[in-house]
Amino acid sequence: SGENVYLISASPLPDDTAVLCFEDQSRQEESEMMRRDFVANISHELRTPLTSLMGFIETLRGPARGDVDAHDRFLTIMEQEAQRMNRMVSDLLSLSRVEVDERIRPRDRIDLASVLRSVIATLEGKLSDADITVAAADLEQEFSILGDRDQLTQLFLNLIENAIKYGGAGKTIHVGIQRLSRDQPLRQPAIQVEIRDEGEGIDEMHLPRLTERFYRVDDHRSRDQGGTGLGLAIVKHIVNRHRGRLEIKSDQGVGSRFSVFFPAGP
Ligand code: ADP
Repeated sequence: SGENVYLISASPLPDDTAVLCFEDQSRQEESEMMRRDFVANISHELRTPLTSLMGFIETLRGPARGDVDAHDRFLTIMEQEAQRMNRMVSDLLSLSRVEVDERIRPRDRIDLASVLRSVIATLEGKLSDADITVAAADLEQEFSILGDRDQLTQLFLNLIENAIKYGGAGKTIHVGIQRLSRDQPLRQPAIQVEIRDEGEGIDEMHLPRLTERFYRVDDHRSRDQGGTGLGLAIVKHIVNRHRGRLEIKSDQGVGSRFSVFFPAGP
């Protein structure tokens, strides 16, 4: 039915018969198109901070030469832009690493509660700067899965950092973990980890696209927060690699809930 189906060979056989061989190339073309889009997006995303850096360098050399106050202000902005480019490159590397790994299922026995404990400890400074409290479930029990510790750490860091960025000062982030005797979509016993914030929430129309690379609900807000637009794309690939699933629910004005379900471990 598609216009991308090609006849790739035709071989005549004796007795008035022939073999015709067709190949559907629509998937290959789609992935080639996605690759081209991705490269175009990266170039655009990196060019934005670069253009701003070049603009400031010009101003410092020209009109702002000798203006000490302006120097300080501009250098601070330039430092932030350079840090954002640095984060972008790190996120791109993480994304490509996870994509390469995706077919190989991780085999280490990992306690998710201990990963959550260390992620929360790592974020202590950011949490207190943002005046945000974490209310965590009992993380002393063991909740084991077969996983990759570094990637699981990255997954929860991304989700909790988002809850900090978009959660709002003075609010609470709720971290929950529980065992399910059976998760219907995964069709097996599972462990559910839930990160819930009390932020503005996300309009339902955006939910299906949130895990696309560089997709942001509010471009300015994400950039102001130093976001790269890659965090949830990385989360999705890590979840896939662990054969789990991600569920995002959000109520505008109430908050967002990111739940990850993993097949329960041995
Ligand atoms: P970013 O670097 O922009 O935060 P992500 O891939 O982590 O990129 O998230 C994509 C977009 O999803 C964000 O730009 C933001 O608009 C939205 N988002 C993610 N987490 C939350 C949250 N907890 N509350 C509200 N919006 C969120």
